Amino acid sequence: MSDYQILPAEPEHKQRNILFAGRSIGWITLDSQRVGLEQCPACDRENYAFSVLSAKCAWCGWSIDKDKLSDAEQPQSGPKPHAIY
Ligand SMILES: [Zn+2]
Repeated sequence: MSDYQILPAEPEHKQRNILFAGRSIGWITLDSQRVGLEQCPACDRENYAFSVLSAKCAWCGWSIDKDKLSDAEQPQSGPKPHAIY
């Protein structure tokens, strides 16, 4: 079970918010090409603007684990219908 959660995009938005342990920490674009870390869950500081796109905290070095983030990607928005074989 991942600490990461990706919220469904709001209408008109090109990115989805990322939650870590239930807190909003940043965002991922709809095509998953860019990840931003805005609020560090480790040191609780707002990330330095130029480091947001590196998905890494400028203050303490904590970074978004993209592998775990892609695990959180699996159950997209809402339950999927089960395939019947
Ligand atoms: Zn930090």
